[in-house]
Amino acid sequence: MSTDDKIRTEAGEERVAPLNGENKNFIEQEIDKDLAEGVYDHVHTRFPPEPNGYLHIGHAKSILLNYGLAKEYGGEFNLRFDDTNPTKEKSEFVDAIIDNVKWLGADFGDRIYYASDYFDEMYEIAVKIIRKGDAYVSDLTAEEMREYRGTLTEPGRLDPSRGRSVEENLDLFERMKNGEFADGAKTLRAKIDMASPNINMRDPIIYRVAHLSHQRTGDKWCIYPMYDFAHPIEDGIEGITHSICTLEFEDHRPLYDWVVREAEFAQPPRQIEFAKLYLNNVVTGKRYIKKLVEQNIVDGWDDPRIVSISGLRRRGFTPESIKAFVEMAGVSKSQAVNEYAALEYCIREDLKPKAPRMMAVLDPVKLVIDNYPEGESEELEAANNLENPDLGSRKLTFSKNLWIERDDFMAEPVPKYKRLYPGNEVRLMYAYFVTCTSYETDENGRVTLIHATYDPATRGGDAPDGRKVKGTIHWVNADDAGRVRARLYENIVDEEKGVYDAETGELNLNPHSLTECRAYVEPALLQAKAFDRFQFIRNGFFCCDYKDSRDGAPVFNRIVSLKSSFKLPKK
Ligand code: ATP
Ligand code: MG
Repeated sequence: MSTDDKIRTEAGEERVAPLNGENKNFIEQEIDKDLAEGVYDHVHTRFPPEPNGYLHIGHAKSILLNYGLAKEYGGEFNLRFDDTNPTKEKSEFVDAIIDNVKWLGADFGDRIYYASDYFDEMYEIAVKIIRKGDAYVSDLTAEEMREYRGTLTEPGRLDPSRGRSVEENLDLFERMKNGEFADGAKTLRAKIDMASPNINMRDPIIYRVAHLSHQRTGDKWCIYPMYDFAHPIEDGIEGITHSICTLEFEDHRPLYDWVVREAEFAQPPRQIEFAKLYLNNVVTGKRYIKKLVEQNIVDGWDDPRIVSISGLRRRGFTPESIKAFVEMAGVSKSQAVNEYAALEYCIREDLKPKAPRMMAVLDPVKLVIDNYPEGESEELEAANNLENPDLGSRKLTFSKNLWIERDDFMAEPVPKYKRLYPGNEVRLMYAYFVTCTSYETDENGRVTLIHATYDPATRGGDAPDGRKVKGTIHWVNADDAGRVRARLYENIVDEEKGVYDAETGELNLNPHSLTECRAYVEPALLQAKAFDRFQFIRNGFFCCDYKDSRDGAPVFNRIVSLKSSFKLPKK
């Protein structure tokens, strides 16, 4: 068994969902406890994106976690747009998010919801809270609000409007709704505790005046609920049991619970926080990705160099590989940073047995077999994937004129070089042994043509006399090869310099993040369709680009090279 196989077996085992006992993550343990204690008799989760950008790999973790829990416990999973802030939200993002969530396999069926559909109920709940004397309309400006809030070491000061009567608050809140006040002139605040050590509990704003048109509700509303007020209500209305979010909301949980109590939901939802997924040296922040898109530094939100879900998909990642990656990253309360190499590992493992292995020459130089008859050709059989016989085999043609990789030849070989050089014999994969006899160069010394002779007795790649060669190289037949565009990628940011510039905070861009080459490929590859994935032998895994490919003229994006220094973490 090779080391490769061992890794695969281990990874295979890791991908099995941990359904039994102590292998459960802390969220599963909490859910088990809730079910055992009868707090809930079922599980209902949701993924609540704000439609203000494209989703990225971190969101994939949240999607798969929430969906996975619903599935594991036989419960339900909602996709809900948290569209309570109209300024940055667009329906283009809504469509892309729906698409991404479906693609990841998180099946929400017809359970798709919009927070904006609850604006009436949210308003009614706010009125109810005012009636209880637990919310009031404030006249403080944003700046005054900041001053009154206090600091971590000093308590806040009481808002002069805090003592308003219920009647006055009801009247003012209604007038806020009716558009009588300018943006920022009034807010509705929860009456909680200005001396709370938790600043989120110091009479937080729950509604603001904002004369904004909303993409779904139009001009109906000129007041909008704040996130901390809206979110628990959305969860409560939908009957969510476990509202799973990321750690930065831990300090907001007391407020979440306050809103849920005040709203008096029959079955109050509960918030559980986990650590965000971070990728080392990779740009994930929406703000930065947006900039790359808006400044046309990348080809839209689905540029294969960015880790938006659309970008990963276009690059050629599979939902299975993303799932394996987030499972490997695990669910925890403590912040960890994951390596992009781990994601690459997962896609290699996924594609190794699935993708046909074909020959493509990315940086071609011509090889002539001088003793092969001019004008003749023959067919050779090549397995499509030695690891997976189900993928069958194909016919390759072989002739006198071939293309090979420029770096598979050295006029003056460095020590230990095993591929072609004058006098050396190598195997042309699936074909023959060939020996380099000479080469030609142009006036700059660049190799233009390599001469070789072949041994007809080695057909299929083995010598009957048992002699061995140290190198095997790939090739394509120049007489019938297709010519295609192939793109190679590096990190969009310069890892050496650091992702962010220390002074300006801007991204340090890597000028070499995209290289396009004109490759020669086996003719069968010309039939590739969007999202078809292949291993180009020795060059990596490639995916047929869905945007730029045309019938008979595919463009290939390299998903990942074949080499890796990634080691699976020990469990
Ligand atoms: P960003 O901070 O990148 O702009 P966001 O948190 O503003 O993302 P939302 O649309 O509010 O984006 O997020 C939807 C859900 O995805 C939330 O529940 C959020 O906690 C979760 N989420 C966002 N980023 C990550 C991440 N890196 N890892 C895991 N979950 C995440
Ligand atoms: Mg957010």
